[in-house]
Amino acid sequence: MQIEFLGATREVTGSCFLVRVGGQRLLVECGLVQGAREHEEHNREPFLFAAAEIDAVVLTHAHLDHSGRLPLLIKRGYTGPVYTHKATAELCAIMLEDAGYLNEKDVQWANKKRQRKGLKPIEPLYTRDEARAAQRHFQTLDYGQPREILPGATLTLRDAGHILGSAIVELELSEAGRTRKVVFSGDLGHKGAPILRDPEPIAQADLVVMESTYGNRLHRSWEATWQEMGGIISSARSGQGNILIPAFTVGRTQELLYAFKCHYEEWGIDGWQVFLDSPMGIEATEVYARHAKLYDEQASRIYEQSGDPFDLPNLHLSRRSEDSMQINQIRSGAIIIAGSGMCTGGRIRHHFKHNIWREHTHVLIVGFQARGTLGRSLVDGAKRIRLWAETVQVKATVHTIGGLSAHADQDGLVDWYRRFENRPRVVLVHGELEAMETLAQRLHRDCRAEVGQASFRQTVAL
Ligand SMILES: [Zn+2]
Repeated sequence: MQIEFLGATREVTGSCFLVRVGGQRLLVECGLVQGAREHEEHNREPFLFAAAEIDAVVLTHAHLDHSGRLPLLIKRGYTGPVYTHKATAELCAIMLEDAGYLNEKDVQWANKKRQRKGLKPIEPLYTRDEARAAQRHFQTLDYGQPREILPGATLTLRDAGHILGSAIVELELSEAGRTRKVVFSGDLGHKGAPILRDPEPIAQADLVVMESTYGNRLHRSWEATWQEMGGIISSARSGQGNILIPAFTVGRTQELLYAFKCHYEEWGIDGWQVFLDSPMGIEATEVYARHAKLYDEQASRIYEQSGDPFDLPNLHLSRRSEDSMQINQIRSGAIIIAGSGMCTGGRIRHHFKHNIWREHTHVLIVGFQARGTLGRSLVDGAKRIRLWAETVQVKATVHTIGGLSAHADQDGLVDWYRRFENRPRVVLVHGELEAMETLAQRLHRDCRAEVGQASFRQTVAL
């Protein structure tokens, strides 16, 4: 029995772990490498195993850095099942199809350039149709229901509280009369986050493969975060401009709508028109609305009292681009939620073009902004930005709200580990070097844990 680490080693994308048990191969995660273009080229490389020889795949959650290479795995010969939570399968349907669409668009653009240079055209990583075909492989499970997915491998999903359907993966593996339990944390949620429950503790394991994204950070309290957001929205009201919120379509968008519902009068949301200007955000919200069974106590209460916790009396859903363009006419009183989350594409850029040069506009940054993105330059105080071929001045007030995170911080990660009664061995993944090292030191110091940091292609025996 062994695990080979094939991705998310000393970085936060491209999760991929190969488990070998009793002559079978089980792949946990099949994620995209994301980031700079050169880095993303790695996604085209051959897998480090034969796709056709994998016997089963398990996904922790729908984010593309965990699921986004799945259609490629299938395109290259994988024919077996993909086990995951039902909500993850539904979110994957939306996200993988969108990824396929973007692949096709990217390649069209790249091939035009290649043609001019006399180079051969390239193929998309996978198409929208190929992404759709991947859906047929999904076999879904609920949390807490053990299932033997291969002879000698029993899978149980536990709630990770990160995005809807996100799971901690428990694998009980048996070979030659020995049984070992491995726990893959997946991405662990931020305790106290809206809508979802906190990450489920697990009492026992032989090995824990644990994420470390924020292993060196502490988040602000939820209370302070909501107060800050409420303060900005309440005071913006008198300014008579629009509020623009770039948001990730899965998770953050639903958290915003939910927060608006919870603080509807308190924040003066009733004095605004709220636009969800994102077809994908609308679809993801529908998936969230269908899975009330997965809500935490507060969201369940709201659901029982007033139905859909993401619906507001003044919410407008803009699916078609015509609907989106109509919002451009509105000079004040609109809260516009649109993608992309880091402002690198999507409809938010159009709203910037129409609003960001006006001084009563507010931009609310509610998610992580990677270096080199338009969102990051706004956070860093850019006075001018480039939108298409135009330079646009930034007169809007840009607010950065730091506390909204879908990931556990250092305390959250340590608290989750502490609930293991037998102090299992840990291998850290899904973190940059500094985050991993800081977390490793803390786990060792506070919990006396034996902690390793996964390196690429490293194999750990069980
Ligand atoms: Zn994630």
